[in-house]
Amino acid sequence: MDQSKEPDTLTHSAMKAFRTLTSCALKALLTLTYSALKAFRNCRRMYDLRYNRGLVPLDDDDSLALGAMFHACLERWYKRAADAPLDQVVAEILDFIDGSYPDRLTDDRQRKNWHLARAMFLAYIKKYPSEDFNIVAVEQEFNVPIVNPDTDCASRTFIMRGKADAVVVKDGQYFILEHKTASAIDGGYIERLPMDFQVTLYSDYIGRDMNIKVAGVIYNVVAKAQIKQGKGETEEEFEDRKAALLAKSKTGKTTASRKMAESDEDFQERLAAKYREDGMFHRELLYFYADQFAALHSEVWELTQQLLLARRTGRWYQNPDFCFHFNRPCAYFPICRSGENPNVIENLFRVAPQHPELGETAPADAPVF
Ligand code: SF4
Repeated sequence: MDQSKEPDTLTHSAMKAFRTLTSCALKALLTLTYSALKAFRNCRRMYDLRYNRGLVPLDDDDSLALGAMFHACLERWYKRAADAPLDQVVAEILDFIDGSYPDRLTDDRQRKNWHLARAMFLAYIKKYPSEDFNIVAVEQEFNVPIVNPDTDCASRTFIMRGKADAVVVKDGQYFILEHKTASAIDGGYIERLPMDFQVTLYSDYIGRDMNIKVAGVIYNVVAKAQIKQGKGETEEEFEDRKAALLAKSKTGKTTASRKMAESDEDFQERLAAKYREDGMFHRELLYFYADQFAALHSEVWELTQQLLLARRTGRWYQNPDFCFHFNRPCAYFPICRSGENPNVIENLFRVAPQHPELGETAPADAPVF
């Protein structure tokens, strides 16, 4: 079966024109990602703080850090050479995890993510020792024009860039393989997957960039175990607990002994047992339908026009309805609440690359002002 079908929507001619652009012309275009557009849609001030000024909290979101690490492990796993000895590949990935958390003996957050990353990866390769698809590309990047759906002309300001976790072939059709880490894989989580517009849009862009037709997406979901390593008691805590037990005891005695910290080996075993339970892994295959792409392209174009206006006027409106959208404060809440107090920015934020997912790096010691 010939997989190379030319995508047949209205951006075909724009794509052909785009492929003739020189590298200079391409460099002059500003990169947009779906994450950036989504930030703009949710709160323009958030976009300004993150993408114009490059600010991120010093203490980045823990769940995102673990998700990025697990993605990096799967990238290495699926990029392995066909003839590479599996033991060696696994050992190298475990070394990579170890090397990513050098302060795990003293830093609780590093220790927690180190444990989880190891346990997730080892459980994953046991769960999926072989696959019913063939890998075509891993961490596949794309650069595509953003096209006006009414005129079929490409934006002269922006270019859409992004990256898909993998492109695979299953039963003769192309699919995007999308890795997700989730706190819990429940019915609500699965129900929401078809609303994941980023994957839908990126699939269309990847299809154009690779000149293939992407039939759908395979969501590859792994739960983050919520159990914690036993911390043990200090001598003082034990004495306090013992005193409380003795106060309640009718015999004036207690058999309580001091709780010792759980060893790394014991915790890894407990995590491995957790990952053998049902509901820690899930794969969901969803097919796309053509209208989905057209609606999303219109939305993207509309957002770019509003973004141009905001850039021209320098007005980046706040959306206070979004400040606690995820039942927790937005990462930029300290800045907005303080009226952009320079001390808050200097003490709690740093400058990061605009699109680190595309391999961009920030200049060292970049000032926050
Ligand atoms: S705190 Fe609220 S207003 Fe400020 S950037 Fe976040 S969502 Fe926007």
